[in-house]
Amino acid sequence: MTETINVMTVSGGKDSTAMWIYAIKELGVEVSAVFNDTGNEHPMTYEYIDYLESVLGPIKRVKADFSKQIAHKREVVQTKWRDDGVSEEIVQQALEMLHPTGNPFLDLCLWKGRFPSTKRRFCTQELKIIPNLEQVYIPLLEAGYQVISWQGVRAQESAARAKLAEWEDTPEGYRIYRPILKWTVEEVFEMHRRHGIKPNPLYTMGMGRVGCMPCINCGKQELFEIARRFPEQINRIAKWEETVKKASKRGAGSFFPTANGRDTEGIYDEVEWSKTTWGGKQYDLIKAIEMEDIPVCSSQYGLCE
Ligand code: SF4
Repeated sequence: MTETINVMTVSGGKDSTAMWIYAIKELGVEVSAVFNDTGNEHPMTYEYIDYLESVLGPIKRVKADFSKQIAHKREVVQTKWRDDGVSEEIVQQALEMLHPTGNPFLDLCLWKGRFPSTKRRFCTQELKIIPNLEQVYIPLLEAGYQVISWQGVRAQESAARAKLAEWEDTPEGYRIYRPILKWTVEEVFEMHRRHGIKPNPLYTMGMGRVGCMPCINCGKQELFEIARRFPEQINRIAKWEETVKKASKRGAGSFFPTANGRDTEGIYDEVEWSKTTWGGKQYDLIKAIEMEDIPVCSSQYGLCE
């Protein structure tokens, strides 16, 4: 009989953690946990992944590598850009920047010459889906295992997720199982409590979701929270913007290129906008005070009893 392997992607967020706890503590199912390291996670998430490993079991870190794509882009810059009318200064600047840094998110943007956006969302595909297929699913399938991919998504999260089925077959040959599809957010945190597993501390710091920091889908309030609590993350993105801009033919390098129906000039511009009231014209006085006065807990999920 073909052996079955249960694979689960653990993001450091509440849903995938609750699903993992449920699988091993309540169903007694063995799972292979995988963490996609995008290189754009908060340090607390990396620490939390280490914590989960110490209390729940081993986690395989999967990282995308874009060295080949960057090498190919260098060739294109060398051989084609001048013919396309790109100035020598920009060609030299791009060649200087186009070396792999080892950070998957930044290397992906160097290769593409831009940041992903809500309209061109290539990050999930390149940083998570393809590396998981290449490094986890395909090797298991080729070794003859039947693979079940456990996904920690919930119908409550969005209309699109509400339409998902509990079970699904994929063209690659593995099956998808979504065991917590009908769970509420309270049930998710209850699963943590029941088994004494701490949720990611970022939930007590105003973060509604855990994943890239920031995510390209990050809303106004979340960006405001990130900027006031973790300004170093904003500074990191600003440095990345400078690097990506220099590697881009057209000088495109805003993390949120056309966020919220407006063109942005970069992450600092977007942070300024996040401090404004609805309409984006006036500074929100309450936010101006909050910028200086950070409470210990501003969880969106009432985590602090
Ligand atoms: S968390 Fe956001 S930024 Fe990160 S890969 Fe997913 S969609 Fe892209």
